[in-house]
Amino acid sequence: MAADDKTPSLNFIHQIIEADNASGKFAGRVCTRFPPEPNGYLHIGHAKSICLNFGTALKYGGTCNLRFDDTNPEKEEQEYVDSIMNDVRWLGFQWDGLYYASDYFDQLYDWAVALIKKGKAYVCDLTPDEVREHRGTPNHAGTNSPFRDRSVEENLKLFEGMKNGEFPDGARTLRAKIDMASPNINLRDPVMYRILRATHHRTGDKWCIYAMYDYAHGQSDSIEKITHSICTLEFEHHRPLYDWFVKELGIYAPQQIEFSRLNLTYTVMSKRKLLTLVKDKHLSGWDDPRMPTISGLRRRGYTPEAIRAFCERIGVSKYEGTIEMAWLEDALRADLNKKAERRMAVLRPIKVVIDNYPDGQTEELDAVNNPEDPSAGTRKVPFGKELYIERADFHEDPPKGYFRLAPGKEVRLRWAYFLKCNSVVKDAAGTISELHCTYDPTTKGGNAPDGRKVKGTIHWVSAAHAIPVEVRLYDHLCKVPRPEEVPEGQDFTVNLNPNSLEVLTAMLEPSVTSEPPASAGGGTRVIQFERLGYFSVDKDSTAGKLVFNRAVTLADTWAKMEKKGK
Ligand code: ATP
Ligand code: MG
Repeated sequence: MAADDKTPSLNFIHQIIEADNASGKFAGRVCTRFPPEPNGYLHIGHAKSICLNFGTALKYGGTCNLRFDDTNPEKEEQEYVDSIMNDVRWLGFQWDGLYYASDYFDQLYDWAVALIKKGKAYVCDLTPDEVREHRGTPNHAGTNSPFRDRSVEENLKLFEGMKNGEFPDGARTLRAKIDMASPNINLRDPVMYRILRATHHRTGDKWCIYAMYDYAHGQSDSIEKITHSICTLEFEHHRPLYDWFVKELGIYAPQQIEFSRLNLTYTVMSKRKLLTLVKDKHLSGWDDPRMPTISGLRRRGYTPEAIRAFCERIGVSKYEGTIEMAWLEDALRADLNKKAERRMAVLRPIKVVIDNYPDGQTEELDAVNNPEDPSAGTRKVPFGKELYIERADFHEDPPKGYFRLAPGKEVRLRWAYFLKCNSVVKDAAGTISELHCTYDPTTKGGNAPDGRKVKGTIHWVSAAHAIPVEVRLYDHLCKVPRPEEVPEGQDFTVNLNPNSLEVLTAMLEPSVTSEPPASAGGGTRVIQFERLGYFSVDKDSTAGKLVFNRAVTLADTWAKMEKKGK
């Protein structure tokens, strides 16, 4: 195959890497890194970056580091570090080097001194507000700080004083001396260091000055000899600064490449917003199954395979778009359809009494565990005189095209018999409390020897054997597709969906507790409740009471049937 035929299948980053490999730019080396700030839990957007960085290293036989960009001690915690490492591993990746920007604080300090000596950095006494005023606007050049022309000696003395704690927090900064008239605002003498007395989760109280992200990040990449420093598009205008630092320091220069971040409909993604949801108790925590965090998705029942397949499908580009949440859900269905064993559960039960079934009798029927996977085998499901079926599977006055149970109508009970409804019992309020039915003993297994057909098949659970379980049904976290778009003066929380969680007591067939189905991914047990969706066993489960989360509904067929039936 000609090289040209292959090129279109490569994303633009891999095209750059192949061109670099061809030209020998990095001597054929590929070294990437995933650089989270440990100020929150990872979300599905980070998964895109993880798959890209680790996937690229794997594709080209290179290496990928995990580096914590920990330069904001006030917001960072060990809990976040631990959760990030756990999530990266769970997604199926293993880092080559494990590093922290804080490992480099001494080196970064020495390099800052080197820039001062070169006349390329100075200590500035302007307050943050004054710095802002001097910065100018995109259309107007900024003005030089009155401290810009301090002598090298004075700068060295003051910077050392900053480090030694001689000045109060915020009193001074170290700034790069670049160009206050640059059309790129990031080059208008950006701050490199600020004074901040905060205990760092790793370096404790050793430092009271901390490097700014723009100064720490590129130099950390350089120390690790990263070849391709892949980041999201908002850093595009920071690239000239990234390049300026390594050039002025005369150190190894990685190539920064920007791609578009992942946005998903019906959810929010920034850690700041997710932190608000946790801190203000809108949700139960970082791993609430409604969260777009990796830990929330895992608890909900997502598998690493589904998340990786989703990231593969969305691809990598510079196009800023919003991906439909439905794509993520589809990726999960595709994976679980092959892996998850089927069971029967009834979410909103109504009792069925089979009048012609012998009193006191029960029997065990054969049910297939996973029609998509013969190796999953079969199980026994108990059947008896009283069953539960879904309330929605019965209609007293069925509309045209309703194929489920109705007075005088016959349906198939999944894995069991044909069942016909003869009468209904109502309580004083007029609510149906019981259906009286008859079954056809000749239809065991689901087919009639006389060849008569039924159109509807419904699931059921034997009332005598049913296990009550808690089921948590989820809807979108936000009630609008683009929750970040809010009226003036309001924040995204106005768009939270007040009905994103519904808790039910469902009736489950007993085999789930007696023979736990195999785990479908990374420790979370996921089962398909026939016709209802995929459900994960929640960590809130106890020996006496199972709790399930609906990970995702089944594909549209059931929804369509529901609509038709109504
Ligand atoms: P957030 O804005 O959600 O707080 P962040 O960019 O501040 O995220 P970092 O911890 O700095 O979070 O991110 C680590 C890496 O993950 C960075 O390289 C960042 O570009 C990437 N990343 C973060 N969010 C997304 C996203 N939505 N899509 C793709 N990559 C992302
Ligand atoms: Mg960040």
